[in-house]
Amino acid sequence: MKRLHILLALFSFAFLGACKEEVPPGPALNTEPKLNYVQLEYKGSTFNTVISGNTITQDRDLPYGVTSVKVKAISVTENNTVTLKAGDALNVAASPVTITVKNNTSGKEAVYSLELRTRSYASVVEKHGLLHTSGNKIVDKNDVPVSFAGNSFFWSNVGWGGEKYYTAEAVSWLAIDWETTIVRASMGVDDDGGYLDYPEQNKNRVKTLVDAAIDEGVYVIIDWHSHHAEDYQAEAIAFFTEMATLYGSNDHVIYEIYNEPLQISWGGTLKPYAEAVITAIRAVDPDNMIIVGTPEWSQQVDKPAADPITISDNIAYTLHFYTKYHQQWLRDRATAALNSGIALFITEWGSIGYTQNDPETDKWIEWCRTNKISHCNWAVNDKAEEWSILRAGASPTGGWSELTEAGLLTKKIVRGWEK
Ligand code: MG
Repeated sequence: MKRLHILLALFSFAFLGACKEEVPPGPALNTEPKLNYVQLEYKGSTFNTVISGNTITQDRDLPYGVTSVKVKAISVTENNTVTLKAGDALNVAASPVTITVKNNTSGKEAVYSLELRTRSYASVVEKHGLLHTSGNKIVDKNDVPVSFAGNSFFWSNVGWGGEKYYTAEAVSWLAIDWETTIVRASMGVDDDGGYLDYPEQNKNRVKTLVDAAIDEGVYVIIDWHSHHAEDYQAEAIAFFTEMATLYGSNDHVIYEIYNEPLQISWGGTLKPYAEAVITAIRAVDPDNMIIVGTPEWSQQVDKPAADPITISDNIAYTLHFYTKYHQQWLRDRATAALNSGIALFITEWGSIGYTQNDPETDKWIEWCRTNKISHCNWAVNDKAEEWSILRAGASPTGGWSELTEAGLLTKKIVRGWEK
């Protein structure tokens, strides 16, 4: 037995020794200095960067005139230290900013150059000025065809839920974070809680948006959001006369005098209404663009194409599309209307919702790009319907980090649009 114990002990030592030798060495400490990423932040909006060699550039411009931007996040590979940290303020005038990454083991350094870039023009309205139609195109102050992408706010009606987003901060957030260049104030008229019930509250919501759009330098549509505007022509004339008096000298402002007429006669009902309201606006404001709704929820653009308004210039016509209902047949109708020489403006559109994969939206947006058609997405709201861009409970003052699927899809389109 004693001999067996000795043998077992020797065997165990040998076995443990063999095991010990098989333990792999720990990973060597990283000895190379390397920056993974830097994110910047301005007014809560994130500006990502691209690192190419030792040069770091923003993936989009900061607004014009920004003098200071914050580091939102910075990351280096393991075992390195870096000269910047989250929360540091960077002086735009001191660009390029030098960032040094130093390895804790080897002492090696990598020096990066961060170029801070702001927009070269104060705002899209400063750049493009008063918009006007030229044949079937909308052109800017230099007669260059232009188009804009942005957001329609929801009905302004008291108690409908969307009215809480009629804030200056929401407009500012869209302008900075989405790079929205046009917003639309959809003032409910004859439905419950609308302008006829609460004129001051609804009008003040419109004014809040228009004033904010002027501050941000983006275009703004003042929309008479009704399906029965021909029944309230006198009220429309009074309202638009007041708006034209207040805002007619601002290049930012566009009047939309009838959101979505129903199946009514263009020549018999709609055109006479439009001419009466246009005459009233032109008595005060001779030049800002006026957009006129078209029959059947702003789909029958063929009607004004065949019988356009001629009493004033700078008139465009409304086209709305919702990809669930409106496909190639409506694009064909709209293309024919353009070919007849009228200008179109998409003051509302909606994707299929609940998904970012909507091939029909892709086709429409491509059509807009090809024909230089401006568009506003429906809608800035957190209501549980497929077209809302915001999740339930989103703040009325912007800072929206979580969007619906429709919101994510729209933001990508709006941010990527020409400026
Ligand atoms: Mg004017």
